[in-house]
Amino acid sequence: MSYRLLDGRKLSAQILSEVTLGVSDVKVMLGRSPSLSLISVGDDPSSTVYVRNKERTAASVGILAQTFRLPSKSTEIEVKAIIKQLNSDSSCHGIIVQLPLPKHIAAGSVLSSIDPFKDVDGLHPLNMGFLASGNPRFIPATPGGIRQMLLRTNNAPSGKHVVIIGRSDIVGRPLFQLLSAKIEGGDATVTLCHSLTRELPEICRLADVIIVAIGKPNFLTGDMVSDGVVAIDVGINRVNAPEVKRGYRLVGDIDFATVSEKASAISKVPGGVGPMTVAMLLSNTLEAAKMSYQGS
Ligand code: NDP
Repeated sequence: MSYRLLDGRKLSAQILSEVTLGVSDVKVMLGRSPSLSLISVGDDPSSTVYVRNKERTAASVGILAQTFRLPSKSTEIEVKAIIKQLNSDSSCHGIIVQLPLPKHIAAGSVLSSIDPFKDVDGLHPLNMGFLASGNPRFIPATPGGIRQMLLRTNNAPSGKHVVIIGRSDIVGRPLFQLLSAKIEGGDATVTLCHSLTRELPEICRLADVIIVAIGKPNFLTGDMVSDGVVAIDVGINRVNAPEVKRGYRLVGDIDFATVSEKASAISKVPGGVGPMTVAMLLSNTLEAAKMSYQGS
């Protein structure tokens, strides 16, 4: 079967050009640019790359981004003190805490301290509650990006059976809420699988759309899917590759070679969900800036 590539770079460029236009309007309304504050604790190499990428992409659409880089031994109180200051700063519209945080800091407690109207990652319990009730305010960026990927490629999930593998708080669980909600880009029948799911291959073969977010290289193979499936790969895994200069390659959770033989559409890693995530984060920041104007 010949597949269509779900090209995250191309689709995210569309979203970013829409955000750029929105930013121009907001500048007129607010008299200043939307702004995003990132907080990064420690020196995890992947997090460093993600934060730089967010800063660069924000600048490309006219959003001011500033990053607070804290050493890994920083305390929860120190992180929350920065959040408190940003919460009360009217020139800051969006706040992101780069995850994972070092183990001695309780991520849930830190995320709950962000002003829900600046929580552009959508991970504050109040925003998670809005999403669970089917009326999302800020949709977490990766689930939001996946929904856009489906909508913008004529693969609206409405009425389809979507199988999600992985139940994390940042991807699998909010994605389950989003795609099952009675909203545009929702209305799917969704099965949420995890490490204790029995008969996973059988469930996967029932999927019209399959989304894998587990962090295991090439986990989903061609024998686990049916012909015509739409396959979306969220995983980002570093695998050793001595032949390349940096010594590793990035691969997803889907075995592209075998699944693409059966898929009608499939995303790749890199160049799939990753760029969509960044674009949606900036789209949420734009929305937060608009809300600050409406609320002022
Ligand atoms: P977590 O690492 O927090 O959780 C992994 C999930 O996978 C858990 O729910 C776990 O089940 C499940 N799982 C693990 N092994 C299996 C298995 N053999 N069969 C079925 N389920 C399994 O997930 P994240 O969502 O944080 O990250 C997942 C991947 O997505 C990572 O590679 C991460 O780097 C990537 N990612 C990519 C993003 C992007 O923008 N492209 C954004 C966020 C993450 P259980 O709950 O039972 O332990």
